Amino acid sequence: MAEHFDIIIIGGGPAGLTAAIYARRAGKTVLLLEKEGFGGQIASSPNVENFPGFPSISGAELADRLYDQACGLGAQIDLEEVLEVQDGSIKTVSTDYGSYSCTALILATGMKHRTLGLPGEDALSGISFCAVCDGAFYAGKDVVVCGGGNTALQDALFLSELCRHVTVIHRRTDFRGDPILVERLQRLENVSFILPAEVVGLHSQDSVLTGLVLQDTISGTRSNLAVSGLFEAVGQLPEQRLAASLVPVDADGFVPAGENCLTPAKGIFVAGDCRSKEVRQLTTACADGAVAALAACKYCSNT
Ligand SMILES: Cc1cc2nc3c(=O)[nH]c(=O)nc-3n(C[C@H](O)[C@H](O)[C@H](O)COP(=O)(O)OP(=O)(O)OC[C@H]3O[C@@H](n4cnc5c(N)ncnc54)[C@H](O)[C@@H]3O)c2cc1C
Repeated sequence: MAEHFDIIIIGGGPAGLTAAIYARRAGKTVLLLEKEGFGGQIASSPNVENFPGFPSISGAELADRLYDQACGLGAQIDLEEVLEVQDGSIKTVSTDYGSYSCTALILATGMKHRTLGLPGEDALSGISFCAVCDGAFYAGKDVVVCGGGNTALQDALFLSELCRHVTVIHRRTDFRGDPILVERLQRLENVSFILPAEVVGLHSQDSVLTGLVLQDTISGTRSNLAVSGLFEAVGQLPEQRLAASLVPVDADGFVPAGENCLTPAKGIFVAGDCRSKEVRQLTTACADGAVAALAACKYCSNT
């Protein structure tokens, strides 16, 4: 028979780990299932400067701290991908390793990388979505960071310390990211900008990226740029597959729940970036984790 938990949390990002902390502190049995790496998106951030109480902390360290706190409180945390959930008064959660059952379920499945959608993009080496994870492979080389938000700017700052040259390519003339990060980049000698431009093609040899085709988004003029690495930071999409099998999702793939994190399905709660909301940040993900966990605890106690 499947091992039973009061609450199963799907996703080990900030929302899921915070939910585990709150649910354990309320005395519930908790299983958290994560498919890739604990900490979710933030684990790939070189530097976080807006999490209250931590003026500057690496995403990896923040992720470790959240993990240790949830584990220390007695949450069972496993590296398994949830493939399917069968809803009912008792829910059955199937993973690539086995099956578990629970009374309440928290969906905290977050977001995944958006890609540029270029031919050959999936098959080439030399393309990365995580400067912290892969930056060291490009030490002393020329790389491009594509994107205009804080992630792209932080990635460029991080890579400027390792790489010979970093070119930031963005399709608009101004950045969405914080001006303070743009100013820091502008002061660096080994960083340059190509704006407004898009990457519209890839050059490769033996399945290794060797260069990019760029297009000026105003004039349409095309040019080539030789590079060893392309770091894509062009946004995120919700991880909607599992959620969509259980609860309604909106046209963009987010679960349309309010601040109370309730879904129309009894005993299923949603937390973090996969919920439809205005601000997707660490603080709001953690807040959702707390709210969803307390609602799930109440549901378990009343069931
Ligand atoms: C590079 C980068 C830098 C950022 N920097 C900042 C910053 O400085 N400050 C800030 O406030 N915010 C920052 N953010 C945003 C912040 O990281 C997110 O808002 C936050 O991580 C959302 O947390 P979450 O738990 O909702 O989702 P996520 O972090 O996306 O975590 C969801 C987790 O669920 C897992 N999962 C999905 N499906 C399954 C499944 N079927 N089975 C098991 N596990 C599954 C995923 O693998 C993932 O680990 C940054 C994001 C990125 C990408």
